[in-house]
Amino acid sequence: MSEELIFLKSRPGVKGVSLPESGLTDEAIKKLIPEEMLRRDLPLPEVSELDCVRHFIRLSQMNFSVDTHFYPLGSCTMKYNPKVNEEIARLPGFTDLHPYEDENNIQGMLELLYNMEKHLCAIFGYDAFTLQPAAGAHGELTALMMIKAYHRDRGDAKRNKVIIPDSAHGTNPASVSMVGYQAVVVGSNGRGNLDIKALKTVVGDDTAGLMLTNPNTLGLFDEHILEAAEIIHKAGGLLYYDGANANANLGICRPADLGFDVAHFNLHKTFSTPHGGGGPGSGPVGVNKKLEPFLPIPRIVKDGSDFRFSPACRQAGISDFPRSIGKVHSFYGNVNVIVKAYAYIRSLGAKGLKQVSEKAVGNANYMMNRLKEHYWLPYDRTCQHEFVISAKWQKEKYGVKALDIAKRLIDYGFHPPTIYFPLIVEEALMIEPTESESKETIDAFCDAMITIAKECETNPDIVRSAPHDTPVRRLDEAKAAREPDLNYFGKSAF
Ligand SMILES: *Cc1c(COP(=O)(O)O)cnc(C)c1O
Repeated sequence: MSEELIFLKSRPGVKGVSLPESGLTDEAIKKLIPEEMLRRDLPLPEVSELDCVRHFIRLSQMNFSVDTHFYPLGSCTMKYNPKVNEEIARLPGFTDLHPYEDENNIQGMLELLYNMEKHLCAIFGYDAFTLQPAAGAHGELTALMMIKAYHRDRGDAKRNKVIIPDSAHGTNPASVSMVGYQAVVVGSNGRGNLDIKALKTVVGDDTAGLMLTNPNTLGLFDEHILEAAEIIHKAGGLLYYDGANANANLGICRPADLGFDVAHFNLHKTFSTPHGGGGPGSGPVGVNKKLEPFLPIPRIVKDGSDFRFSPACRQAGISDFPRSIGKVHSFYGNVNVIVKAYAYIRSLGAKGLKQVSEKAVGNANYMMNRLKEHYWLPYDRTCQHEFVISAKWQKEKYGVKALDIAKRLIDYGFHPPTIYFPLIVEEALMIEPTESESKETIDAFCDAMITIAKECETNPDIVRSAPHDTPVRRLDEAKAAREPDLNYFGKSAF
């Protein structure tokens, strides 16, 4: 369908609403609303209700979604999340609460949040949590602010460097510079682990900490994590765990037990909200005893059998937590996302959460082993919840890139995997099946990947010119993100 047919539906005089006459004269309206606030023209499309419904439903059907397609977007954990969690979070008892409501009237909500912190402590091994941060990157910032406060509090303010592996997510170095620290990059070795020799050469009395993702962005568990933790701690630094992708860890491995002093976790990946769902998100941060005094305020405290927010005004000296870094979010974070995650954790229980990770890891390894004859696998070892293969062979032999393969998958009815990340693998294709897919779906995806590898040999043009059946083909993605043109009749209209 042409773009015009999709968007140009407006016809003068057509209405989608029928409201009763207000009965007010122009004079009366002017008295009610100041002249300068009245709009004469409201350039909206003139369409009937039916036109409008069909337009938006049709647009929604052009989209890929977890509810319609397999969505193996590595690092984003686009799993299917049970609808019951959405329904629970939508209960009016939660959604109708006002954040300024008196604490005595929201005891249920406070209890839920308090319990959520305790559940996260149990799952990841920490002593305390804050639920305030609104995203993964926000959690990183919160954690680094606490690390900085910790060193300052000890009179050790010269520490200004944070060590990061070259496989790190881009938000890590960005968060480091946001708190005024300097990022020091350390390479990975041939097995995809942090290079311990290189680590030793950069650690010193200016090391504030190490930021690590484990499993890392290659989907690999760092085999020398305990050694790395010892090196950093001996030098007086702290360990930060980027737990954005916790889907491999549940019930199996707790980052606090590996030596990580502080960590953030994306509820909007692992816990019942998809990443990239357009928000909102939630990136709670867990800490051990060393960092607990620096947690954001207000904190939720239990007072006898009641729950309350701790006094939150640090400046006025009335906080129970005088060394806190202060507030990092209005009110208490994105509570709706937290309710969904709470429902997810409570309904699965300890056993169910462990099964999530076991199945996610099993699925990824099964796929990796089916695909490794057909695509270059740079690190051939057991993976965690995701793995990274490469279109290097296809590029060298047939001039077909990772981007082309990703686009060709759309023709076969699959959302493409993450591509060109992590940066240390050329022509990277990062695949995360998640636990929620059946063997049939996973096999169908692998079959499509293998067919595409064969097409690269026999008919590379069909791959290079994909996708073939979509309403739009190859877009300028950078331009679409930086200069979005969301007006239905084009920017020039305003
Ligand atoms: C997704 C992700 C982040 C960032 O999370 P946001 O909520 O998008 O800010 C950080 N680190 C890793 C490893 C991630 O996968």
